[in-house]
Amino acid sequence: MYEALDKQYVLHSYAREYINFVRGESATLYSDKGEDYIDFSSGIGVVSVGHANKRVNEAICDQINKITHISNLFYIEPQAKLAEALVKLYGEEMRLFFANSGAEANEAAIKIARKYGEVDGKIKRYKIITLKNSFHGRTISTLKATGQASMHNYFGPFPDGFVYADSIDEIESLLDEKTVAVMVELVQGEGGVEPLDRARVQALAKLLKQRDILLIVDEVQTGVYRTGEFLAVNRYGIKADIVTLAKGLGGGVPIGAVMTRLIDIFRPGDHGSTFGGNYLVTRASLEVVSILEALKRSGKLDETIKRFDEGLEEIYQKHQTHIKKRVGIGLMQGFRMSSAEVLKEILKRALQNRVLVLKAGRDTLRFLPPLTISDEEMRVGFERLDNAFSLL
Ligand SMILES: *Cc1c(COP(=O)(O)O)cnc(C)c1O
Repeated sequence: MYEALDKQYVLHSYAREYINFVRGESATLYSDKGEDYIDFSSGIGVVSVGHANKRVNEAICDQINKITHISNLFYIEPQAKLAEALVKLYGEEMRLFFANSGAEANEAAIKIARKYGEVDGKIKRYKIITLKNSFHGRTISTLKATGQASMHNYFGPFPDGFVYADSIDEIESLLDEKTVAVMVELVQGEGGVEPLDRARVQALAKLLKQRDILLIVDEVQTGVYRTGEFLAVNRYGIKADIVTLAKGLGGGVPIGAVMTRLIDIFRPGDHGSTFGGNYLVTRASLEVVSILEALKRSGKLDETIKRFDEGLEEIYQKHQTHIKKRVGIGLMQGFRMSSAEVLKEILKRALQNRVLVLKAGRDTLRFLPPLTISDEEMRVGFERLDNAFSLL
């Protein structure tokens, strides 16, 4: 009914499906036709605590009946509490800056790195090395940081100073006297659910430390328990100089954050955001982080990861003609499909079978379920996914 409106008034920057979702609960969404869909995508890793989470909604309602926004010219109680919670979970002295999205968090990270490269008021080191097939955002700088040339059409000229490494092994040979930072996703999300090798990441972290080059880890997708630990850096056993967060951090409210051990890097005026970290989003996020931290502590998150893994493995074993390989960590999982055409077909059939999944890279079927998904939702979702595969 509103499809025509969308097509007439909204820019066509997305390849959209026209299902009118009107309500959600946990990992289930309902359309205006009353049909239920199992959500194995959580709005691209955002709805980490499930749809219509009661605790988050109550926190939001309580907050908006008091104050929604007042600007960063005043301190903001839930922002301070959220920063404390994130630093305590990280376990080392860090400071935070709050933005509204992943791209903005990465913009802030790039600015921090550039300022770190400054000597006597001049930027002496400015180059940032990123990886091929990475994804860091859609603003002009973060798009340039994104190591996918196909996304750079039309939008130049771009800022200088981004260099792409074909693989983690190639990074060392690209470091020079102008290099200030290396920015990586430990599990490439949009690029195809591609986890980096643990030993190589540890060697890289060590090398960068020796050379006084910053390690920026883009945890916009991997962060806040998506991989089973608070951050992917915890899983990889490394420390980063800068970590960026967004997607799952707010459970659906738009929030991004950059955490850094460079606690004195910014002076008043160096950076800012009108909306960043306002009462609404930080109060919601504080609740999200508290829910997920308890989920992890109780052992329930690890159990869910195990169940989800078993469900995927069963489908993989049964449909190996179409699935080349299983990839991923925690609740960030994928099937490398036999071809891009087969992926396209399975995406279509999954939707017809009312299970929401995602595409990543050229040929990867991606799963990012809510971290709070129930056993029953998993059972139904895998049954539907199996049906979708059986129809191929
Ligand atoms: C989604 C994503 C971004 C961009 O986040 P936006 O909120 O869309 O700006 C950046 N980096 C990674 C790793 C992402 O997955």
